[in-house]
Amino acid sequence: MNPLPAPRKVPVVPRPRHGELSGSYLWRVAQANRIGFRPFLCLLGTVPSAVASKRPDLAVMVLTLNDTAFTRLLAYTGLDAANLIKAIPSLAPRSQTPGEPPTIRFSSLKSQVADCPGCRLRRGGAYADTRGLGHKAACLRHGYWLYGQTQRLGLAELPEAAAAQRRLERIAARCGPAAVMRTFELATWYLEHAWRIDYHPHWYPLLLERWQGRVHTAGATAAGTTWQMPSWATHPERVALTAVFTSPYWAAQAVPRADRRHRLFYEHLAAELGISDGRPLRTIRSFDPLPPDIHAQARWGRVLSDPDWNAPPPIAAIPRQVVNYDITEAYAMSLPWYFPAAG
Ligand SMILES: [Zn+2]
Repeated sequence: MNPLPAPRKVPVVPRPRHGELSGSYLWRVAQANRIGFRPFLCLLGTVPSAVASKRPDLAVMVLTLNDTAFTRLLAYTGLDAANLIKAIPSLAPRSQTPGEPPTIRFSSLKSQVADCPGCRLRRGGAYADTRGLGHKAACLRHGYWLYGQTQRLGLAELPEAAAAQRRLERIAARCGPAAVMRTFELATWYLEHAWRIDYHPHWYPLLLERWQGRVHTAGATAAGTTWQMPSWATHPERVALTAVFTSPYWAAQAVPRADRRHRLFYEHLAAELGISDGRPLRTIRSFDPLPPDIHAQARWGRVLSDPDWNAPPPIAAIPRQVVNYDITEAYAMSLPWYFPAAG
């Protein structure tokens, strides 16, 4: 292999954009200096064959440099290492084994959310590292839905979805984007899978009708079932559940107790989802499998808002006694499988 030429500073050094993806920045440096992308990367170190010269997918391309390749990048750009990594975290060099030549590694970004095309234009074409943007399910400024599938949306016609997104961002500001998205995924699972119509909680058809109504309003094709439902149609209810689940107050209320005050949690849930029909909630069982999950986790001392919710139980830990009280004893007794709770 020919030794690499001594690096010299390139004439044009584009400004690294805050939160930019590594592949996007290296592409912009090459473009600004009218060098082919692959030839430019070859100046930094060994390039994997998966990195094509033409039209790489900049939205997902992560290029990780080892220490010597990163040193070469600094020499070519004249940028400060700490500032560069601060702006573009995925450019942080991966330490290398002794004697390893300058090397670039390639990987693809996996993220539920896409970069907003409107925001990208404002950033001068730089692609964002969307891993830290999980809670940006929509760009309200440019009217793009970004979660799952990017779609231009008339958010003016879907004020509930826009309001829900603002609410999600407020929750993320309070408890952090990673925590909020963990709960958001959990909320989605209950809403769209665990409470699906085939398990027929009595209120589920109400939600389905509401979601279909939103799909109609947006002028999209109506989806028959939950798993064909676009994610923006169910966003308000997902966020409503996320708000309840991330609240330490409501998470603590959800734990079964002899005085049945946990009823308030399920009443609050019904109110947040807009499914209460005015009648008192007869049983928490209409929210299965959530109550048994809350019960099981409470035995390990965990509530819904805890970061280790659903993680495997700690080794050698002894579960607590938590009795699973339903709301009404009379109701529970009417069930054929009823056994009086011990203790
Ligand atoms: Zn935008």
